[in-house]
Amino acid sequence: MNSHLLENDLSTLLASTRSRLDADARLCIDGQWQATAETIEVSDPSSQRCIAQIAAGDASHVDAAVAAARQAFERGAWPRLAGTGREALLRRLAELIERDRQLLAELEVVDVGMPLWMARDLNAGGALDTLRYMAGLAGRAQGRTVGVDVPIPGSAFFGYTQKEPLGVVGAIIPWNVPLMMAVWKLAPALAAGCTVVLKPSEEASLSVLHLARLVHEAGFPPGVVNVVTGRGAVAGAALTAHPGLDKITFTGSTHTGRQVAMAAARNVTKATLELGGKSPQILCADADLDRAIPGIAGAIFLNSGQVCVAGSRLYVDRRIHDQALERLVRHADALRVGAGLAPGTDLGPLVNARQQAHVLQHLDAAVQAGAQRLTADPRLDASGCYVRPSVVAVADQSAAIVREELFGPVITVTPFDDIDQAVALANDTPYGLSACLWTRDLATAHGVVPRIRSGKVAVNTEPLPWPGLPEGGRRASGYGRDLGEESFESFLETKSVLVRYA
Ligand code: NDP
Repeated sequence: MNSHLLENDLSTLLASTRSRLDADARLCIDGQWQATAETIEVSDPSSQRCIAQIAAGDASHVDAAVAAARQAFERGAWPRLAGTGREALLRRLAELIERDRQLLAELEVVDVGMPLWMARDLNAGGALDTLRYMAGLAGRAQGRTVGVDVPIPGSAFFGYTQKEPLGVVGAIIPWNVPLMMAVWKLAPALAAGCTVVLKPSEEASLSVLHLARLVHEAGFPPGVVNVVTGRGAVAGAALTAHPGLDKITFTGSTHTGRQVAMAAARNVTKATLELGGKSPQILCADADLDRAIPGIAGAIFLNSGQVCVAGSRLYVDRRIHDQALERLVRHADALRVGAGLAPGTDLGPLVNARQQAHVLQHLDAAVQAGAQRLTADPRLDASGCYVRPSVVAVADQSAAIVREELFGPVITVTPFDDIDQAVALANDTPYGLSACLWTRDLATAHGVVPRIRSGKVAVNTEPLPWPGLPEGGRRASGYGRDLGEESFESFLETKSVLVRYA
């Protein structure tokens, strides 16, 4: 157990971070910062105290933002800029994020609760890597030549395809890693020459608003990136229903994803949906436990479990079950839970009291139904939205705690007797986002990977994102991909050109 500082000490923040918290609530349309009639309170999840206000955009702001993005796409310089020009601006934006990395990280910590090291290294770091990777793709969209043999005597044809930017993109992101999520959507869209209207979560808009400032400072033309903050049911719903979009890219829950998909279908708008998960981890008897145990813990407890690819169901070979479980429980209980700004914090609070209650209720219900919680009391005596990392032994695979995405620091553990059973248990879920496999045996690794129904499988590692590797799911985890060339391609349209020259 640990007792760590449980409330962020805001006096340690940079003066520039403070000034962002004190700034007037405004959203960004066509390069202009606009106030709204209503504002939304932002609270620090380590104390639940109000620390800032954000603008509550509505359908009229979404209309104006889509119009600005359309104007910038149809008449502005951005889609017509040479790829090298777009690349240069994306790299300039990366330099500005690097310059303001501490400020952005501090905003993230006080807004969503994550530890400072994570906000700097993984969140801002992931944003930087993604920007630089996608900058390298700008202007490198490749068509192909096609031989055409039309049977008209004496005629000659050839054909080719060319790639063109898709148009105006609506992007909706969740609260778990806001800066990185924003860049996962923005960077490939901008590299392809699209313009964007971005709606961050009302739980997590501060870093995204600062990103919008940096976009402006970097010199992107007005209207290329518009940020409309506000409530999901208002601004988010207005954006997804908007007929002026060429694509919607969404990350969030499966529940909201369904609504987004239906709204997109009504307008025949392309959609990419990165939704929830209930990702399995398989621990084989031959695994190197010295690496596997911290890895398994990292795969579920990073960001207090608020990660879409979190490995929340562990299946362990019965031969090592007791030993592995004992080590995992010891590891989980030793993790330091505390305020994100406190040095040495491993896990911060959850994003808000609603999410905390959701996770604790699921834990209580599971224990009442016969599951065994093996770790310390998940509740902390604090005003922040804390849940301690929890390991729960569950036999019943139909239990809600095994089937539903909790988005909290909770892992269920169940033994298996052979690898076929492990694969069957891993695939017994409506989701299909990610999986981890822990084994030293090459034949097991290569034999199991193709049998797992998910968009990603991490072997002997946590499922860390890398800009070149696409992220996304199957079934209830959605469709389409973030990251990788697949993501860049998804912001391009293919045009076929047929030429007769004789
Ligand atoms: P939501 O799906 O509700 O929110 C994701 C985004 O969609 C937010 O920007 C939200 O805005 C917006 N939104 C909400 N309602 C609508 C709507 N009707 N139309 C368009 N956009 C909308 O997820 P939550 O934040 O409520 O989290 C709930 C659960 O979702 C979590 O417990 C977890 O299971 C899952 N989740 C999965 C994530 C992933 O990466 N796969 C990330 C985050 C959550 P606003 O926040 O302002 O309401």
